[in-house]
Amino acid sequence: MQPTQNTIAIPATTDPDVAQTLRDTALYLNRHGWNQGEYYDARNGLFTPPACLVGAIGMVCYGGPVDAPALNYDDPGFGAFEAAVRYLNAFLRLRHGLAMDAYAFNDTRGRTLDEVLAVLDTAAGFDLRAHVPWHCGRFMQPDIDVQVDCLALPEAERFVSAWHVCPECGYTATVEVTDPAARKLAVDGYRDLAEIAVHDDPKHTPGTSDACEACDLYCYCTAESACINHVEDDTDTAGTAMGGAE
Ligand SMILES: [Zn+2]
Ligand SMILES: [Zn+2]
Ligand SMILES: [Zn+2]
Repeated sequence: MQPTQNTIAIPATTDPDVAQTLRDTALYLNRHGWNQGEYYDARNGLFTPPACLVGAIGMVCYGGPVDAPALNYDDPGFGAFEAAVRYLNAFLRLRHGLAMDAYAFNDTRGRTLDEVLAVLDTAAGFDLRAHVPWHCGRFMQPDIDVQVDCLALPEAERFVSAWHVCPECGYTATVEVTDPAARKLAVDGYRDLAEIAVHDDPKHTPGTSDACEACDLYCYCTAESACINHVEDDTDTAGTAMGGAE
């Protein structure tokens, strides 16, 4: 079944409790230490052990180490834990692409504590709801499908949008990508897709065949030439036929 396409407005607020949890998490890591690969470094038996990013959110929300912070449903702090992790995951996906989440960010080779603290600080002060749609009480997840109107336009004038899907109910929406880092990521990803798109026979330069699906789907404009989607229609001599190519 084809999902309905919608564009929805997002309330411009950041949950103050989530922001506080993220700031407290940075404080915890600063004070007690940070580690990779596991929730806690239990070697020295401390009640406030060094922790990974998600482990430290657990320390803040539960008040002590628990075996599996993400599965600690019965704890009164679970709601705060889950809200903070979901928010952070949505923020990291926006900034670093679909494959990123709090675990992957923490465990990336070469990651430093300073980078983790910087992400917590930026995320806590970021208005994520202005960038990622909200549905069924949580952030929608970005889908792979990114639209860019014309690559020949200056960066700031391009309209860049991304599909999002509600993980609870399957509702879909397209939203304009406005965060500069996320825009760069989206346009780079779009260029990569255009690059590897398979063009129909007969052989042609990408962006030049109006019978080719890939040419129709992507913009191949360069500084020197316009692609078939954006070429100026100067065919006045052909009469005034209405309703040409969309
Ligand atoms: Zn939903
Ligand atoms: Zn083509
Ligand atoms: Zn074009």
